[in-house]
Amino acid sequence: MDDTCIFCRIAAGQARAEIVHEDELAVAFKDTSPQAPVHILVVPRKHLTSLAEAGVKDGALLGHLLQVGGEVARAAGIGQGFRTVINTGPSVGQSVFHLHVHIMGGRRMGWPPG
Ligand code: AMP
Repeated sequence: MDDTCIFCRIAAGQARAEIVHEDELAVAFKDTSPQAPVHILVVPRKHLTSLAEAGVKDGALLGHLLQVGGEVARAAGIGQGFRTVINTGPSVGQSVFHLHVHIMGGRRMGWPPG
Protein backbone atom coordinates (compact mmCIF):
# COMPACT_ATOMS: atom_id res chain seq x y z
CA MET A 1 0.00 0.00 0.00
CA ASP A 2 1.09 3.55 -0.82
CA ASP A 3 -0.13 5.82 2.01
CA THR A 4 -0.05 8.83 -0.30
CA CYS A 5 -2.33 7.18 -2.88
CA ILE A 6 -6.04 8.02 -2.61
CA PHE A 7 -7.15 4.74 -4.23
CA CYS A 8 -4.95 2.70 -1.85
CA ARG A 9 -6.55 4.61 1.02
CA ILE A 10 -10.07 3.91 -0.27
CA ALA A 11 -9.23 0.20 -0.73
CA ALA A 12 -7.90 0.09 2.85
CA GLY A 13 -11.03 1.79 4.24
CA GLN A 14 -9.03 4.88 5.23
CA ALA A 15 -10.78 7.27 2.83
CA ARG A 16 -14.47 7.54 2.04
CA ALA A 17 -16.01 6.28 -1.18
CA GLU A 18 -19.35 4.95 -2.35
CA ILE A 19 -18.26 1.34 -2.67
CA VAL A 20 -20.36 -0.94 -4.89
CA HIS A 21 -18.18 -4.06 -4.83
CA GLU A 22 -15.39 -5.38 -2.64
CA ASP A 23 -13.40 -8.63 -2.65
CA GLU A 24 -9.92 -9.82 -1.72
CA LEU A 25 -8.33 -8.45 -4.90
CA ALA A 26 -10.34 -5.39 -5.89
CA VAL A 27 -12.77 -2.67 -4.90
CA ALA A 28 -15.24 -0.79 -7.08
CA PHE A 29 -16.69 2.58 -6.19
CA LYS A 30 -18.56 5.49 -7.78
CA ASP A 31 -16.49 8.18 -9.47
CA THR A 32 -16.82 11.50 -7.61
CA SER A 33 -16.90 13.39 -10.90
CA PRO A 34 -19.13 11.17 -13.05
CA GLN A 35 -18.93 11.62 -16.80
CA ALA A 36 -22.00 9.45 -17.42
CA PRO A 37 -25.13 8.51 -15.44
CA VAL A 38 -23.25 5.40 -14.29
CA HIS A 39 -19.51 5.89 -13.71
CA ILE A 40 -17.75 3.33 -11.55
CA LEU A 41 -14.03 2.74 -11.01
CA VAL A 42 -12.68 -0.78 -10.51
CA VAL A 43 -9.39 -0.70 -8.63
CA PRO A 44 -6.96 -3.45 -7.58
CA ARG A 45 -5.97 -3.48 -3.93
CA LYS A 46 -2.39 -3.90 -5.13
CA HIS A 47 -0.77 -0.57 -5.94
CA LEU A 48 0.19 -0.50 -9.62
CA THR A 49 0.71 3.01 -10.95
CA SER A 50 -0.76 2.13 -14.36
CA LEU A 51 -1.36 -0.66 -16.85
CA ALA A 52 2.15 -0.02 -18.16
CA GLU A 53 3.55 -1.30 -14.85
CA ALA A 54 1.59 -4.58 -14.94
CA GLY A 55 3.53 -7.71 -15.77
CA VAL A 56 2.90 -11.37 -16.53
CA LYS A 57 2.35 -12.07 -12.83
CA ASP A 58 -0.57 -9.60 -12.86
CA GLY A 59 -2.48 -11.39 -15.63
CA ALA A 60 -5.05 -13.01 -13.35
CA LEU A 61 -5.56 -9.74 -11.48
CA LEU A 62 -6.17 -7.83 -14.72
CA GLY A 63 -8.71 -10.46 -15.79
CA HIS A 64 -10.39 -10.14 -12.42
CA LEU A 65 -10.75 -6.36 -12.80
CA LEU A 66 -12.57 -6.84 -16.11
CA GLN A 67 -14.78 -9.59 -14.69
CA VAL A 68 -15.73 -7.30 -11.78
CA GLY A 69 -16.34 -4.50 -14.27
CA GLY A 70 -18.95 -6.63 -16.05
CA GLU A 71 -20.55 -7.57 -12.75
CA VAL A 72 -20.86 -3.99 -11.48
CA ALA A 73 -22.16 -2.85 -14.87
CA ARG A 74 -24.91 -5.50 -14.81
CA ALA A 75 -25.73 -4.63 -11.19
CA ALA A 76 -25.99 -0.94 -12.12
CA GLY A 77 -28.42 -1.75 -14.95
CA ILE A 78 -26.12 -0.97 -17.88
CA GLY A 79 -25.17 -4.54 -18.79
CA GLN A 80 -26.52 -4.04 -22.33
CA GLY A 81 -24.06 -1.24 -23.13
CA PHE A 82 -21.18 0.31 -21.31
CA ARG A 83 -17.72 1.66 -22.01
CA THR A 84 -14.59 0.29 -20.34
CA VAL A 85 -11.63 2.68 -20.23
CA ILE A 86 -8.11 2.48 -18.79
CA ASN A 87 -6.14 5.70 -19.15
CA THR A 88 -2.38 5.17 -19.04
CA GLY A 89 -0.24 8.28 -18.66
CA PRO A 90 -0.98 12.01 -18.34
CA SER A 91 -0.99 12.52 -22.12
CA VAL A 92 -4.23 10.51 -22.43
CA GLY A 93 -5.84 11.81 -19.26
CA GLN A 94 -4.63 9.62 -16.40
CA SER A 95 -4.88 11.76 -13.27
CA VAL A 96 -4.77 9.18 -10.47
CA PHE A 97 -1.65 7.03 -10.59
CA HIS A 98 -3.13 3.82 -9.28
CA LEU A 99 -4.42 1.49 -11.99
CA HIS A 100 -8.20 1.73 -12.41
CA VAL A 101 -10.82 0.66 -14.91
CA HIS A 102 -13.60 3.12 -15.72
CA ILE A 103 -17.03 1.54 -16.25
CA MET A 104 -19.33 4.10 -17.82
CA GLY A 105 -22.82 3.96 -19.26
CA GLY A 106 -26.37 5.19 -19.23
CA ARG A 107 -26.00 7.62 -22.15
CA ARG A 108 -25.04 7.46 -25.82
CA MET A 109 -21.32 7.78 -26.50
CA GLY A 110 -19.42 8.58 -29.66
CA TRP A 111 -16.37 6.88 -31.10
CA PRO A 112 -13.49 7.57 -31.24
CA PRO A 113 -13.20 9.29 -27.86
CA GLY A 114 -11.46 12.67 -27.79
P1 AMP B 1 -8.13 9.02 -14.66
O1 AMP B 1 -8.27 10.45 -15.12
O2 AMP B 1 -8.32 8.00 -15.75
O3 AMP B 1 -6.86 8.82 -13.87
O4 AMP B 1 -9.35 8.78 -13.69
C1 AMP B 1 -9.34 9.16 -12.35
C2 AMP B 1 -10.77 9.26 -11.93
O5 AMP B 1 -10.80 9.20 -10.52
C3 AMP B 1 -11.46 10.55 -12.33
O6 AMP B 1 -12.61 10.23 -13.10
C4 AMP B 1 -11.82 11.21 -11.00
O7 AMP B 1 -13.06 11.86 -11.05
C5 AMP B 1 -11.84 10.03 -10.07
N1 AMP B 1 -11.54 10.29 -8.68
C6 AMP B 1 -10.52 11.01 -8.17
N2 AMP B 1 -10.53 10.98 -6.83
C7 AMP B 1 -11.58 10.19 -6.49
C8 AMP B 1 -12.13 9.77 -5.24
N3 AMP B 1 -11.60 10.14 -4.06
N4 AMP B 1 -13.22 8.97 -5.24
C9 AMP B 1 -13.77 8.58 -6.41
N5 AMP B 1 -13.31 8.95 -7.62
C10 AMP B 1 -12.23 9.76 -7.65
